[in-house]
Amino acid sequence: YLAKRTHADYLVYDPGQEANRKSQLSLLGELKTAVESNQLSTYLQPKINLADGRICGVEALVRWDHPERGWIPPGQFIPFAEQTGKIRALTLWILRECMLTSCHWAALGRNVRISVNVSVNDTEDPAFAGMVQSLLEETGADAHNLCLEITESATMEAPDKVLDALRHLRSLGFKLSIDDFGTGYSSLAYLSRLPVQELKIDRSFVLRLDEADGLQIARAIVELGHVLKLDVVAEGVETQAAWDTLVELGCDQVQGFLVAKPMPIVAFDEWYKHHKGYWRDAMEKDESGQ
Ligand code: C2E
Ligand code: MG
Ligand code: MG
Ligand code: MG
Repeated sequence: YLAKRTHADYLVYDPGQEANRKSQLSLLGELKTAVESNQLSTYLQPKINLADGRICGVEALVRWDHPERGWIPPGQFIPFAEQTGKIRALTLWILRECMLTSCHWAALGRNVRISVNVSVNDTEDPAFAGMVQSLLEETGADAHNLCLEITESATMEAPDKVLDALRHLRSLGFKLSIDDFGTGYSSLAYLSRLPVQELKIDRSFVLRLDEADGLQIARAIVELGHVLKLDVVAEGVETQAAWDTLVELGCDQVQGFLVAKPMPIVAFDEWYKHHKGYWRDAMEKDESGQ
């Protein structure tokens, strides 16, 4: 009786949810304008190589400065834009920004790879990889200095198309990464067929490294990643204790608020120069056993 009742309650019309949907819909309509009128900006969050403390990469994260609503976090419009296939313009916009930044860094001799989030929805379109190839030609960027992160998704409708797109992108030289690993539904068989080189442990597990199940899951993901010969990255590293545990687990790279929050490109430039290419703070603490 209780289960039935809960189910019925769930189906009841919820005006709050309806209002939320309407607001999301109107936001989506404005996304195209946002891309065209400079309301989006690219923030970068450092990735650190655990073996030597080198700042080996950054992840690009979009920020939307809406003229009336102020800053809108990506979590409030990206998932919805993905579901409705409206993500394309944003993906190409941020890719282009990152390619230009990467060219600049290559000219400085700075060996830092830029990771860009690409939606599964993008890769389901057979024309997508070709568009990315054109962007490379236009900007002159070297794909080897870029990584594309694809979230393991519950809504993957055309796995074969995705596989074709990933193979094409890989052949262009991009490093490929599976984001938020452990939260999706891909089978191990599918995973082993993907032409990827990196796996990112979802933040929800990293935040629970001090609990038995979080720790076991993280350990299993590191081991699985290494069996498949992939670099394993932990995202959402907020504490020194999490860092130390990840060193023990043999994780390859970390990213998180312990190191730095995402910051505008110019701020990252300053941050990188200030640290002379290495983030040693946590390693020194680690060595002195504090
Ligand atoms: P993601 O790709 O898994 O990115 C990591 C998210 O974790 C970012 O949130 C980042 O700010 C946050 N984060 C990093 N370190 C920490 C930490 O130590 N603690 C906590 N609590 N959070 C941390 P953000 O920037 O809000 O982005 C959310 C999601 O939106 C991203 O998750 C990604 O799926 C999506 N997204 C962001 N930018 C883009 C984009 O340009 N294109 C696409 N397709 N998706 C994007
Ligand atoms: Mg990501
Ligand atoms: Mg992630
Ligand atoms: Mg995500």
